[in-house]
Amino acid sequence: MLKLLQGVVDFHDNVLPKIQERFRELAEGQKPDALVVFCSDSRVAFNLFASTDPGEVFVLRNPGNLIPPCEKDLVPSAAAASIEIAVSLLNVRDVIICGHSRCGAMQALVDHEQDSPFLKEWVKHAHGARNYFSKINFEPDFTERDQLSQANVLLQMDHLLTYPKVKTLVESRQLQVHGWWFDIVTGNVFSYEEDLKKFQVIDQILFDKIQKRLFSK
Ligand SMILES: [Zn+2]
Repeated sequence: MLKLLQGVVDFHDNVLPKIQERFRELAEGQKPDALVVFCSDSRVAFNLFASTDPGEVFVLRNPGNLIPPCEKDLVPSAAAASIEIAVSLLNVRDVIICGHSRCGAMQALVDHEQDSPFLKEWVKHAHGARNYFSKINFEPDFTERDQLSQANVLLQMDHLLTYPKVKTLVESRQLQVHGWWFDIVTGNVFSYEEDLKKFQVIDQILFDKIQKRLFSK
């Protein structure tokens, strides 16, 4: 706890003076580029590996980066409200769902221990992940947990499309949905490439390919 408090003091004394103006601008309103959905795991440092600044991404964060499918009777959830804000009010153009290696929520899918009943119930939203194994050429040394984690990204991309507004915007190409995956061991970030049926490391070569794809639509 003291480390966090000291961090606040350091931010106030050393960082804030350099970026105070940016916060004054942000106080007038936010216009993030994308909605990003990633896991609560403390090691998934999205802002670090995507080099983002305050105001650039709207975040939905929960164990397992899950998006419960849309309920017809407007059952409130953090996911539904976040999607609504990002897509209907902030008009983001992209949604990124980002899974990660060694995910505890994915482990809960394969474990049989009963010490975490709430987590067990929550990860039911990832139960269909195995159905997506055929869409991914996994690395040979991948654990079952990491396979589930990548497949779960594709499942959650489909769950996102159960929200009518999202589906409409995607079909009219006003919104794009991307699947990413973060490897904690190497620090590499991957993008799901449908034509290759695999998650590919985002490097300059893949950046150029994705850029062409984005502008061809
Ligand atoms: Zn996780």
